[in-house]
Amino acid sequence: MKELLLVRYGEIFLKGLNRPYFFRSLVRKIRYALRGTGAKVWIHDGRILVDEFEDLETVIDRVTHVFGVHSVCPAVEMPKENFDAICAQAVQMMADLTGTFKVEARRSDKRYPMLSPEINAELGHRLLEANPGLKVDIHTPEHVLNVEIRDQAYLYVRVIPGVGGMPVGTNGNATLLLSGGIDSPVAGWMIAKRGVQINAVHFHSFPYTSEQAREKVLDLARKLSFSCCGIKVHIVPFTEIQLQIRDHCPEEYTTLIMRRFMMRIAERIARKTDSGALVTGESIGQVASQTMEALNTTDSVVEMPVFRPLIGFDKSEIIEIARRIDTYELSSLPYEDCCTIFTPKHPATRPRKEKVAEAEAVLDLEGLIERALDQVEVVSV
Ligand code: ATP
Ligand code: MG
Repeated sequence: MKELLLVRYGEIFLKGLNRPYFFRSLVRKIRYALRGTGAKVWIHDGRILVDEFEDLETVIDRVTHVFGVHSVCPAVEMPKENFDAICAQAVQMMADLTGTFKVEARRSDKRYPMLSPEINAELGHRLLEANPGLKVDIHTPEHVLNVEIRDQAYLYVRVIPGVGGMPVGTNGNATLLLSGGIDSPVAGWMIAKRGVQINAVHFHSFPYTSEQAREKVLDLARKLSFSCCGIKVHIVPFTEIQLQIRDHCPEEYTTLIMRRFMMRIAERIARKTDSGALVTGESIGQVASQTMEALNTTDSVVEMPVFRPLIGFDKSEIIEIARRIDTYELSSLPYEDCCTIFTPKHPATRPRKEKVAEAEAVLDLEGLIERALDQVEVVSV
């Protein structure tokens, strides 16, 4: 008899011919998540199993956070020949439970001497005898004892939901504009969940933004790094660009022009890192630079698609996810972002992109971008 964890995957089943590729990728990501625990990840009989672990709860916690994992079940593997031993094991697994239950047997070994309904009936009977706190309900049971008869017998009761999504890397790369705020880490997490490997770009305006602000962003990236399977953070010095904008452009457009620089620089980093899209944490109307007209103004300087997974989310909904992925507290630390320095008193909310382009044309766009790119610092977390 052996304790192990069965890993169930959902959506990657749908992928037809690509299935083996997704499957191998998921196994690699689970191994990555479990590094240092001593646990072994196996493919056996078309399923992913984890065993040889010391602490089951740690393994559950790590595996349920891997994108592509639908659920996990702590299970017992035992010889299928001795039905009495299976019953004794089932009784032990259900000993502390009360309420309604059913047994759900499945046989992939069709030569097994008992049919599934027979297993259900006999095991159900033994469980009722052993535990008076249990009652059968085959329609909406509180507990389900699963019995799978394969090369061996597998028994499990607990099913713990995983995060879902698809294994990171199976859907290409994207570049996330990562600020220290609440929104952008959530946006990055959501795109990573769809199987996309995330690169991050952060704009830093030292000394107007502090060393702590930079560290905060790296800490946020570290938080995301586990689910995202490692992140490269490109830290871009932004002070010269911001000062030039402040000194030479109309105040109402300063935020928009700054955001256009961010997009252009992020796109160049994205190309170098083989990304297919940019990702931001914007949502319609949240601030002046996120009206539809403003978003259109920033989009128009890049060719790459810009993904904004939070576009239709309320702040409270974003916060809910931030709490769930444990970035909220870090994001709430009070360090300034380069977006919050030199903010105009009356930003344009319905800008025309021709006007903004005209306003920024006084600057040496190419020179400023080149100089910023020359000084990028890359930190892998
Ligand atoms: P967040 O909470 O993520 O900071 P926000 O509500 O503060 O978002 P803005 O400051 O307007 O909104 O920024 C909008 C988006 O622009 C962010 O979600 C992020 O993708 C990007 N962004 C803002 N500041 C930076 C920065 N310093 N470096 C990189 N990207 C940034
Ligand atoms: Mg911000």
